[in-house]
Amino acid sequence: MLLRIQKDESLRSYVERNLFVPNTVFDNDAAESFSRCNWNSTQVKLIADLLGWHGCYGFNKLLHQHTDYPWEVVLKSRFNYSYSDDAYLSKQRNFDSLSTVRAYCPVCAKEDKQSLGYSYWRRIHPDVQVCAKHNVVLLKTCQFCNRPFARGGHVVSVMWGGCAGRHLGEAQPVVNRNLGALRLAQFFDQVCRTDDHIYIDTAAAIIEGKLVNCVANPTALGELEDVSGFGHYIKRSRINDPCVPWKYYALTKKIIELALSLYESFDDFKHDCHQLEPNAPSIRSFWDTYCCFSSNTQIFVREIYELGVAEWLWPAFEHLSRDPTYRNSFPMVWNPESDLCCIPSDMHPSRNHYDAPCPGVRRLTRDELVVMTEMPTQG
Ligand SMILES: [Zn+2]
Ligand SMILES: [Zn+2]
Repeated sequence: MLLRIQKDESLRSYVERNLFVPNTVFDNDAAESFSRCNWNSTQVKLIADLLGWHGCYGFNKLLHQHTDYPWEVVLKSRFNYSYSDDAYLSKQRNFDSLSTVRAYCPVCAKEDKQSLGYSYWRRIHPDVQVCAKHNVVLLKTCQFCNRPFARGGHVVSVMWGGCAGRHLGEAQPVVNRNLGALRLAQFFDQVCRTDDHIYIDTAAAIIEGKLVNCVANPTALGELEDVSGFGHYIKRSRINDPCVPWKYYALTKKIIELALSLYESFDDFKHDCHQLEPNAPSIRSFWDTYCCFSSNTQIFVREIYELGVAEWLWPAFEHLSRDPTYRNSFPMVWNPESDLCCIPSDMHPSRNHYDAPCPGVRRLTRDELVVMTEMPTQG
């Protein structure tokens, strides 16, 4: 019997906590996989499956609730219909490494110990240095022995085993005096709690409006670049390009940085964006879909668990079909039978020209669907 994953618990924390408690066991393959220093999508899928969260939906639910991934994807291009692009297929991305230093809030650890009987490691963005709830500095080295919470220092299970008989929640909290650090921590916290995406062009328009107001009052501009410097970002966000949405990534980072400079909180920024665009898609609406990059365009695969099939979507089809150069360059792509299909995964042709794997979609029972889609009560 596996333990229950806690709110905001990091993936490594959940696995190591299971390993620490007697009588909770993983099978040999899972144990071997979890013993690795670096985790990619393989381990994320494994944990999702253990929780009863299947397929792409389960993978993305785990990313959204237990990693810092929301920070990267809360802003979304209108032409992107997946939550995490091709992360579900790719093994390139690192989702946890034992080499990375872990950090924790001693007040959270103490409170968790009192309310749950144990504490745990939370997902924390690497740039966040303070606790958003308690405004105390996160600890990266042990206050009792000075060892770092990383390889060569304390192992992950020090959170449960303690250091020389002392629980990590007994460490003395240090109050944070850096308002910018607190704001960043709270931004991250609010991004993780948001229910909706923000379209990147909406966000850019809101930032532009704020910057114009700053120009009227130059002292408010502070260290920001001037409006003309931001102009090219605005322009790029408005490009109607359904083919290559991934070029918006640098833009996302820039807009979040600017929002941090211009807004007291992410919720205030989100409020302004939602005033301008009330119909932004919910965070969960793309959890069941991943994308395959191919030939400078994107194909999306949506998994339909009630039926056990995958649906292929090619939003740029119409746009590209009007381009004779493209059609001549990729004649084999224009085969409607292979592009527009929706057949059970076990009957799918073994290979297709996008180098995407056959979408194997498990047909889920009603009970399995309920387990997979239930959301934790926010506390
Ligand atoms: Zn805290
Ligand atoms: Zn120690």
